[in-house]
Amino acid sequence: MRVAVVSFEVYPLAKVGGLADVAGALPKALKKKGTDVSIFMPFHKKAKDNVKKLELPLEKVLDEFDLGLDTTEKACLFKTILPKTDIPVYLVDNAHYFSSEDVYGSPDGGEQAIFFTKAVLEAMKKMEKPFDVIHANDWQTGLLPVYLKSVYANDPFFAHTASVYTIHNLGYQGIFDRSYMGFAKLPDYLFNIDGVEFYGNLNFMKGGIVFSDIVNTVSPTYAQEITTAEYGEKLEGVLQSRSEVLYGVLNGIDYEENDPSSDKRIPYHYSVDNMDGKWKDKEELQKEMGLDVKPNVPLVGLISRLVDQKGLDLIDDVMKYVMNCNVQFVLLGTGDKKYEDSFSNLAREFPGKASVKIGFDINLAQRIYAGCDFFLMPSRYEPCGLGQMYSLRYGTIPIVRYTGGLADTVEEFDGVKGNGFGFKPYDSAYLARSILKALYFYHRKDEMKTLIRNAMTTDLSWERSADEYLKLYELALKNH
Ligand code: ADP
Repeated sequence: MRVAVVSFEVYPLAKVGGLADVAGALPKALKKKGTDVSIFMPFHKKAKDNVKKLELPLEKVLDEFDLGLDTTEKACLFKTILPKTDIPVYLVDNAHYFSSEDVYGSPDGGEQAIFFTKAVLEAMKKMEKPFDVIHANDWQTGLLPVYLKSVYANDPFFAHTASVYTIHNLGYQGIFDRSYMGFAKLPDYLFNIDGVEFYGNLNFMKGGIVFSDIVNTVSPTYAQEITTAEYGEKLEGVLQSRSEVLYGVLNGIDYEENDPSSDKRIPYHYSVDNMDGKWKDKEELQKEMGLDVKPNVPLVGLISRLVDQKGLDLIDDVMKYVMNCNVQFVLLGTGDKKYEDSFSNLAREFPGKASVKIGFDINLAQRIYAGCDFFLMPSRYEPCGLGQMYSLRYGTIPIVRYTGGLADTVEEFDGVKGNGFGFKPYDSAYLARSILKALYFYHRKDEMKTLIRNAMTTDLSWERSADEYLKLYELALKNH
């Protein structure tokens, strides 16, 4: 099967968020399974810098070509490879749209996204063979399935090309003025309630949802949740109407980069069969964060953007009581000032027991994943979530709210089975109960050993996700 993954960001060429990790890791896993996979992304300034820095091969494969948009700007196509693979990465270049230091929004987010999407399709048409499946991601490429089902509907080149559309974050839909229809040269008949229209505007993500052959999001639970008013961000009706082709596939994590037995970012290494390093990492972390160095006091960690989505109001509510137990707390995060202030106050109130670092530090994050006993993640909503997956991999037991990807990766520990703790109602009393339950098990050494083993052996690999994506690609071909 010939698959094209189309994404606005791809690790390690240009990364802003989790989308880049997915677009960089999924093709590798697909390739291992024998899929003929290519990647398409914009040739952002950042990507140019990284191609040089990583000394990747680069060739121009298409000179200036016209896109059939309402602009005289033309595109070029370059080709490199994904580092340490032979997976081709096609880079759409244009000085006007992709020269900024920022990946998104400059000089105009809507035009940029349309330009990239149309350039990908036009570039494909100049290739020898069509793709069987085009896998578009997030709002920036939402119009790709729209073009396939309208402007290119009768184009023999795309006659057998199916589309899969992945929603990584329903919170960002790409909503623009109707006039962008003109720039995109999309037919007017699409601008209605069954098409791309959304409360009088053009909604890119809605287009992707309505016109793709298969829609998916990054966890099975979130795939169900987004069909409800509580999580649907006003697209729940549209998502319900596509429920027959709506799926959820959990992201994986990179097992090589995130391996406690070899991770260079942590002071001591360990594995599920020899945990000594973890207890030394805990001691180092206690020292580094100014906590009392006590091996037998449970250490609870939190690494997060400090925003409402992450359920921090619940933590704020319960922590001052929980801190009166025999427990320690360490937090790393930045975000809303109200949370930065309240957690900083907590650290002042409980010196030696609570330590708070306001900032963004990926190395310290790794030392926290390794050095803690428990990890808090009581999110209000969570499409997939990475924090709980890294915690599990490092034998740090997650305490979560069972929503989205958290519900799909964490299973309540019953003394034998399960890899963490959690609760459902968005209520701080339930969070407190889960924390107390975790602390109870902490002192039951045999059960704790089982729990840690269960956590560290949870399958979070891309291998499993790639199998599921391959099934979706097959389904998309069938639906097409
Ligand atoms: P989201 O993408 O909504 O922020 P995720 O759990 O999916 O949440 O991913 C967040 C990632 O960012 C995790 O890998 C987490 O370790 C990392 N992270 C969050 N805040 C910080 C921080 N202050 N310093 C370092 N890493 C952070």
